[in-house]
Order: sequence, then structure tokens, then C-alpha cells
Amino acid sequence: MSRVPAAMWKRVKERDGAAYCCDASEELWVPQHRQGRGMGGCKTAHTYPNIIVFCSFCNGLAESNPAWAAHYRDMGWKVPRNSMDTPDMIPVTDRDRRRWWLLSDGTRVAVDGAA
Ligand SMILES: [Zn+2]
Repeated sequence: MSRVPAAMWKRVKERDGAAYCCDASEELWVPQHRQGRGMGGCKTAHTYPNIIVFCSFCNGLAESNPAWAAHYRDMGWKVPRNSMDTPDMIPVTDRDRRRWWLLSDGTRVAVDGAA
């Protein structure tokens, strides 16, 4: 996985903060790709809907543990790489149980429409 462009990562951090995995401090934040690259799928890797703020610890959990991986899918934090759905089609749930659409311009909107 090539690195997320710095300007994009900055914007993702402004959008998400520590919204998803836990309240780890910023120096532990890493870009989490919701949908990993499948065969030839690199085109979708660096898009705003595909990248969320995670900490390096939580980022590794889903890789090693099937129960965590299932939870991450339930939360929209992981999108199966062989899915027909792309990350912009699946909302993410934050730690306050609010659900968000991540938009391709780097902003997000609440699924339920409330402010
Ligand atoms: Zn975390």
C-alpha cells in the first residue's frame, strides 16, 4: 500500500478526529483503509470514503482476530475487499453510535440527518 498523500491524511484527521476506534492520542493515529486492495483494486485505495482515522493498535486487531474483523465490518470500519459495495456506499458508525456517510470531497454527513 503506497502512502496516503499528506494533504489527504490531514483532511481525514480534521474530519474524523478520534471518532472511531478509541481515544488514542494523535501521535498513534494511522490511516485505516476500509477496503483493502484486491486484485488490481488499487484505484480505490486512496479516496476519502476509504480512509478513516484509527490508532495503530486497533488497526492491527482486525488483521489478527476474526471476531474483531466481524465487529469492524458491522461498524463499517472494514469493507470486504471482494464486496460489490464500495466504501462510499456503506456508512461508518462512530463510538457514539452515530452513523456517517463519508463523501468523496473529504466531508461527512450524518445518516440520520440530525446535526
Ligand atoms: Zn484505537
